[in-house]
Amino acid sequence: MKNFALMALPYEANALEPVISRETIAFHHGKHLAAYVNNLNALLPGSGFEDALLEEIVCRAEGGILNNAGQILNHNLYFGQFTAPKQDNAPTGRIAAAIVRDFGSFEAFKEAFQKAGTTLFGSGWVWLSANKDGHLVITQEGNAANPVQHGLCPLLTFDVWEHAYYLDYQNRRPDHLAALWQIVDWDTVEQRMKL
Ligand code: MN
Repeated sequence: MKNFALMALPYEANALEPVISRETIAFHHGKHLAAYVNNLNALLPGSGFEDALLEEIVCRAEGGILNNAGQILNHNLYFGQFTAPKQDNAPTGRIAAAIVRDFGSFEAFKEAFQKAGTTLFGSGWVWLSANKDGHLVITQEGNAANPVQHGLCPLLTFDVWEHAYYLDYQNRRPDHLAALWQIVDWDTVEQRMKL
């Protein structure tokens, strides 16, 4: 059987500063995500999911296996979508056109996405996904949930668990969400579009 591995970050731990500090990356990736990976690997033997893909586990498992697999899938997408901060960072190409088509403008999309993240009660994730027709939708997912569970293709996510921002922003979740636009790697987001 295989073991899941802690993903390697595609940037240095301080590369996202000042939006996300090196210290937050060290805890969030090196402690929280690492624990989910270790937990899942310990739960897999005898579960029937020993050779399953992460997405299959997230769509079919329950309990601790579902929660840990969901958090691994979510965090792999999350940490994999960032790059060093850029002023006026904005999407281009197909993803930009799809955002304008489905939300009216990039500004309107950002406002709706931040509102979904700010109003999500408790721990969870806000997502931009593509549906089966290729249209973009924003969803709120509690705890470890992922849009693949509803047949959606996840493109972009902001983590609103307190562990994602508390060291840098304390209780100011809206400020954290507003700052994250500076570090979104829109080329990576666009590459996740299947249609
Ligand atoms: Mn997290």
